[in-house]
Amino acid sequence: MKIYNTLTRQKEEFVPIEEGKVRMYVCGPTVYNLIHIGNARPMIVFDTFRRYLEYKGYEVNYVSNFTDVDDKIIHKAQEEGVDAGEISARYIEECKKDMQALNVKPASVHPLATQEIEGMIEMISSLIDKGYAYRAADGTVYFRTGRFAEYGKLSHKNLEDLQAGHRDLKVAGELKEEPFDFVLWKPKKEGEPAWESPWCEGRPGWHIECSVMSKKYLGETIDIHAGGEDLIFPHHENEIAQSEAASGKEFAHYWMHNGFLNIDNRKMSKSLGNFFTVREIEQKYDLQVLRFFMLSAHYRSPLNFSADLMEAARSGLERILTAAENLKRLKDSGIDGKMTAEEEELCEKAQEFEKKFEDAMEDDCNTADAGSAVFELVKFINTNASGQNTKAFLGRLYDELHVLCDVLGIIIEKEEEILDADIEKMIQERQEARKNKDFARADQIRDELAQKGIILKDTREGVTWKRA
Ligand code: AMP
Ligand code: ZN
Repeated sequence: MKIYNTLTRQKEEFVPIEEGKVRMYVCGPTVYNLIHIGNARPMIVFDTFRRYLEYKGYEVNYVSNFTDVDDKIIHKAQEEGVDAGEISARYIEECKKDMQALNVKPASVHPLATQEIEGMIEMISSLIDKGYAYRAADGTVYFRTGRFAEYGKLSHKNLEDLQAGHRDLKVAGELKEEPFDFVLWKPKKEGEPAWESPWCEGRPGWHIECSVMSKKYLGETIDIHAGGEDLIFPHHENEIAQSEAASGKEFAHYWMHNGFLNIDNRKMSKSLGNFFTVREIEQKYDLQVLRFFMLSAHYRSPLNFSADLMEAARSGLERILTAAENLKRLKDSGIDGKMTAEEEELCEKAQEFEKKFEDAMEDDCNTADAGSAVFELVKFINTNASGQNTKAFLGRLYDELHVLCDVLGIIIEKEEEILDADIEKMIQERQEARKNKDFARADQIRDELAQKGIILKDTREGVTWKRA
């Protein structure tokens, strides 16, 4: 499998650190508002990449943070007259709802910056000890960028050129040694959340958060670090400087960056005000359409959001879903018994589409071509599947379509949602079974519920349940 690595500006063969396992970190959103569909792009494309890795049999440790302490969060809290923690908790919840609606799998861990302060203090201390960081008179701790010889290797910038061109980065009153020194720890301002530290009461800079969370949950060297291309500089460049200066080891082997979601060929962003939230889009479209639209382009290409392209995604998706539905209906009433020789042959042909799909995904996660392979399979199904076929044949085609759509995160068969009343009924039945010492039946009910995403907890007060 090939991945385009921003670090080397080349497509490279993917070789994981540990066979069969992938350690992947994706920079998550700053939570002070509902996410817009630009923020959803990295979530969707890297979730799809993760799904493909899992399809290939890799065990993926997928970590994606929430930045829950930041100027924007603090401003929003001050505007509303509430605690910053209330704002971040609210928008983390909302973001998780959007992710679920987009069929983005939850990460293995979603660390919160505010829960990892101890690790940040540790890393900053070690950088100071090694001479890579210093405390200014006002208590701010800066990274001494000039000390890190490889600074600029990700963004392919040269520090001297940067310094010559950006003298203005040193704002009056700042006590940093050089313009490109960046903040690791900053002193508290009135009314801001703050933590004790050896330097001053204050809070961490944004870049150190990701270095620390990546190290804690994935180790000092990871396979893949990802995010939007606006993060290459300075965020990811600074993460590399901090992590590699602290550990003396390479931070991440592969750096993947998605292109922008644009509107009228300008980046969609909160600051430009040219954005749609995922919630707004949800009112007009099934969010599967948004997901399919995002995957219609290569993840590194810019993608222009337009009603026309969304309509094209909608009709493409409908074609897939209709084929899946027909196939399911045919399968249910198909002929029993073994596949015919002709069907066996057709199955072999159908495998070609799977191969095409894989070839596309192996080539730097080319979801656009992978989608075309799915359309070819759909066409093949529409031409070759009928009521005259065996259940076995129709089932095989259905499974193939299902598996490929699942990699793209497209749901072709919605699981029926279980109602609260039915859950309660099953829990009662389980209690009865236990009373009658029919533990096998009790376990069976628990498993059935688990399969539907319902988790039971036996407490002293009785059984409680929640949806996973
Ligand atoms: P932020 O909350 O701005 O830090 O963004 C969270 C993630 O969304 C980062 O990976 C950004 O690079 C990404 N992102 C923000 N805006 C866009 C956009 N218009 N297109 C693609 N990715 C974006
Ligand atoms: Zn980050």
